[in-house]
Amino acid sequence: PATTGAATFARLESEVRSYCRSFPTVFKKAQNATLTDIEGREYIDFLAGCASLNYGHNDPDMKSALVDYIMSDGVTHGLDMFTEAKEAFLISFSERILKPRGMDHRMMFQGPTGANAVEAALKLARKATGRENVIAFTNGYHGVTTGALAATGNGSQRAGSRSQLTGVTRMAYDGFHGEGVDSAQMLDDMLGDTSSGIDAPAAILLECIQGEGGLNVASKEFLQRLSAIAKKHGALLIIDDIQAGCGRSGDFFAFEFAGIEPDIITMAKSLSGFGLPMSMVLVKPEYDVFTPAEHNGTFRGNNHAFVTARAALEKFWADDAFAKDIRRKADYLNQRLGAIAESYGFRVKGRGMMRGIDTGSGDKAAEICAAAFERGLVIETAGSSDEIVKVLAPLTISDETFARGLDIVAEAFETVLR
Ligand code: PMP
Repeated sequence: PATTGAATFARLESEVRSYCRSFPTVFKKAQNATLTDIEGREYIDFLAGCASLNYGHNDPDMKSALVDYIMSDGVTHGLDMFTEAKEAFLISFSERILKPRGMDHRMMFQGPTGANAVEAALKLARKATGRENVIAFTNGYHGVTTGALAATGNGSQRAGSRSQLTGVTRMAYDGFHGEGVDSAQMLDDMLGDTSSGIDAPAAILLECIQGEGGLNVASKEFLQRLSAIAKKHGALLIIDDIQAGCGRSGDFFAFEFAGIEPDIITMAKSLSGFGLPMSMVLVKPEYDVFTPAEHNGTFRGNNHAFVTARAALEKFWADDAFAKDIRRKADYLNQRLGAIAESYGFRVKGRGMMRGIDTGSGDKAAEICAAAFERGLVIETAGSSDEIVKVLAPLTISDETFARGLDIVAEAFETVLR
């Protein structure tokens, strides 16, 4: 059915859920990195469902796998059941991702969202260690449920719900205090001294590239140090790979480049590959401590998501060609953003295909995104005051569309800032 346009949504839908403030149109169709609205106008997508569409919109192979599954009356809802689709996904994830990396993690399904996976990870770590405290970091983002929110750095996100930092101690992320301050050493010192007031932690929880928190990057050394600190102090290392995972960093997992093996990994967003809700917790066998049904939920294990997730793994992760292509595109992105940033005295932040320009002002960044939208580009901001213009293009974007999208970014900066 036709709609009467963006204004209708503002009336029909609660204001807060209505993102029409950012993208004032009604979208109808999408293919790879291109969205089309009800007027037939096309937009390049540099948001990609906030990294949940790493393989683009409506990938033809995932689409046909899903259509075939539906047409064959494949089981949709499979609560408490083994299904063929689930098994095929598990085998594929194990063969394509875990085994080649020498990982023996168990795959645990928690349900539709990233926050669900983070909650499960926190509960697992607490149960496995018998401790409560979780070390989380400045600018970290882990979701909006109570536990995940407690671990989230940005106070304004917690304020309205009066959500407390229950059971969480906040420490400085890599680079938070600027160059030359060793945040990992500070953490080690604090944990090693009972007078620090920090209870022995169940877990150290972090993102390798902070997505919502402003594209802050954890160095290889920082990750290696945290991995060692976790071991030394008997805590589990939890990497939240919800936004930086599934290829976004240039490897399947964002921690791979550091050669570490987290005890628990949370995944969601691009895991289903098709924009379907699906999250997963990977856990080392010794910490797989839930009893049956201890952590459950009606909508865990969506079979349609298993079908597309498997198709994505088989298409993109059967060899290293896709990862190489991501790195090539990431270099190009860095170079193009670098040229834009330089002419305004700004800097580029992020890693891989998860980068942006720090404009130093939330208002400016919003104006730039609005100017980009007028020119046919969907792009969003990130950072503690939304000061970063953030590029999250599908990893499958064509070179031509990518170049055109980055031209629009340059034009939008020019319009707003000159
Ligand atoms: N962790 C990270 C790193 C995220 O980026 C997000 C979502 N932006 C979440 C957790 C929460 O995921 P969800 O929105 O699916 O609950």
